[in-house]
This record gives sequence, C-alpha cells and structure tokens, in this order.
Amino acid sequence: MTPEGTALPCHSARQLPVQFPSVLEQSLEDIWYHSFGFNRYRGYDWMPEPCRSCDEKEKDFGGCRCQAFMLTGDADNADPVCSKSPHHGKILEARREADCSDIKIGQLQFRNRSNSQLIYKSGNI
Ligand code: SF4
Repeated sequence: MTPEGTALPCHSARQLPVQFPSVLEQSLEDIWYHSFGFNRYRGYDWMPEPCRSCDEKEKDFGGCRCQAFMLTGDADNADPVCSKSPHHGKILEARREADCSDIKIGQLQFRNRSNSQLIYKSGNI
C-alpha cells in the first residue's frame, strides 16, 4: 500500500504500465478479486511463449513482471533471468560486465538510510 492508498502486488509494481486500484475507492476484497491490476498477471492465459508451454510455469508464474518490464520493455515477456527467455542474453552480458569490472568491493556504495538520501539528492537514481 502506498502512502496515498494505491494497492500494489509488490513494492516495484508501481513502475508497470498497469493501473492499480486505490483503497480509497475499492475494498481490499474487491481489489484482490476483481481489480484489473491484481488480475492482469493472474493465472496463465496472459503468458506468451516460452512460458505458456513451459512445465515450470506453475512454480514461478513466468518470473518477475517488474524485472521483465525493466529489462525488456514488456512486462508480458518471460523474466530474462530464465535461461529459456529470448532476452536471457541481457543477464549473461550483465554478468560478464560484472566479472570484468575494475570496481573493488570497497568502492561499492551499499544502500542504507544515509546513502539512500545521498543518492536521492545527487539525482543519480
Ligand atoms: S520464466 Fe522460464 S521457467 Fe518460468 S515459466 Fe517462463 S520459460 Fe518457464
């Protein structure tokens, strides 16, 4: 639930091109069972291939919709983390880049309250 009352299936879902309901306008029961936002990716009918015919779909439901959207531009795609995804190369490339990176562990900026505020103020988010 966002501070202004939008109900989300996860904290990242706000970025999806999906209209999510407000608890100011609908009951939680109505949101859960009947809202478009909470039914858009429920079940299996929305899935394209390779997920649609995959024998793993009842376990992972095609992976993370937010990750699929962020990495492929289409939230309907199979999560690129999956080796069956046609976009899996993006993950392999990111891993290759990370393996070749010159950045040392001490140079990484870990998220905590103070660092998050600095990152936010810098505009590099
Ligand atoms: S994400 Fe991969 S393992 Fe999961 S259902 Fe889709 S193709 Fe199958």
